[in-house]
Amino acid sequence: MNVLLVRPHPGSDHFGLGPFFRVEPLGLEYLGAALLARGHDVTIADLRFRPGAATWVRRSRPGLVGITCIHALEYDQVIATAREVRRASPDAFILVGGHAAAAFPGPLLDDAIDAICLDDGEEIVPQLVEQLERGGDPAEVPGLKLRAGGAWTDTRILDERPCLDLVPLPARHLVARHRSGYHCLLFKPVWLIETARGCPHRCSFCSVWQLYGRSVRERSIATVVEDFAQSGDSVFVADDLFWYNPARSLELAAALKQRGVYKRWILVQTRTDLICRSAEIMAAWRPLAKDFDIFLGLEAASDAGLSGLDKDAGLAESIEGVRIARELRYGINGNFLVGHDWGEEEFHELWEFVAQYGLQRAGFTIHTPLPGTDYYDEVADRIPRQPWSNFDMHHLLWEPRIGVERFFELYAETWRRSILNTSGEKSLMDWVRQVKPAQIPYIARVLWRTQRMMKPSAYVREHHATHPVATGH
Ligand code: SF4
Repeated sequence: MNVLLVRPHPGSDHFGLGPFFRVEPLGLEYLGAALLARGHDVTIADLRFRPGAATWVRRSRPGLVGITCIHALEYDQVIATAREVRRASPDAFILVGGHAAAAFPGPLLDDAIDAICLDDGEEIVPQLVEQLERGGDPAEVPGLKLRAGGAWTDTRILDERPCLDLVPLPARHLVARHRSGYHCLLFKPVWLIETARGCPHRCSFCSVWQLYGRSVRERSIATVVEDFAQSGDSVFVADDLFWYNPARSLELAAALKQRGVYKRWILVQTRTDLICRSAEIMAAWRPLAKDFDIFLGLEAASDAGLSGLDKDAGLAESIEGVRIARELRYGINGNFLVGHDWGEEEFHELWEFVAQYGLQRAGFTIHTPLPGTDYYDEVADRIPRQPWSNFDMHHLLWEPRIGVERFFELYAETWRRSILNTSGEKSLMDWVRQVKPAQIPYIARVLWRTQRMMKPSAYVREHHATHPVATGH
């Protein structure tokens, strides 16, 4: 069967660090590899580069169109894309999958969509394609929410989540035409690699552990080494929790060295408490890249703030984790959460913590109840109807305690204290000196866009333009 896999444009990205991250659609590449292995024809359309789903549909004549929905902010865009596909090809089967679709499918129950994939697509989608091809009933395929006869029903759950090596390597050639456009922070092009999936922790704002039942699955060492060897010089490791398994992490570092795989840049995501007990692992990994960055969810500037998020780690671990990483010459990119109900004192506490520990290379996102989390269930009644794009972690979803204007003055001031403020500690010239000449236009454009985050009036205007509106949930 001809299968078209679509990565929609996420919609509004006026605020936040979106301009710094445009990574390849790795989930679709794994899905593509699974389908190719079973003899199907696969096209991946990345609409972030070339809009127009209908054009791709006409060109590839698909029997099934899979649309990925990774984050809650994309729900409205995904439905709009499904409607465009439906108009262009009334008979194609339209399936939506991806993290947000599986974690919270409710907003996607739309007549333009035939089914939602609730679990690993690599296992489910080939079964669905083959069922459709032989004219069978899709209700026999596990892991789906299916629209039939005007109602939505769930098919049986997957008996067992598949081993990640079911599909050894992603079909990266399906997006080769966009490779030079995939970027992350200062690096371009960038390759996205997954070595493990899931997380055993239970942070209240995170939907990863809820979706996977606090499980972690790992790819084999041989597969990961092959993927690193075949990928380019700058790598973002997509794992939610890197270095989780100490023995495997040491084995993987040794295997990469033995194969002679060294990179210009690697970015991984992990936790401060894990760093505190992993100095040996981090020392083993550090030589594998000239520059090696860690993305850390620092979240809060107090123990009370961290325990309120069920972080299961304290401020002492944040401080020690950052110290250990810096001693080993890792770069630290952190993120803090800013609460809707914050007053002046919480903002000042955060500013002092950032200044004291030199954490200006951090992002500051509004603590947003993501669908699929317990936090969302707790506060859903407080959230008025509004576009899903407001769930981008840079919008207020309800009236803050100190009022919209004052909140955004303090929020913009928080961003002004970060290195992204080109009128602050790090000038535009300092940024430009860090990149190759060919990438100067890219970094200048990204920084120009992020300056909006230092302007309270930009947030306030946006807030009033999107509260309340007709679409919603
Ligand atoms: S450690 Fe990270 S991935 Fe794990 S639950 Fe917390 S935020 Fe989610």
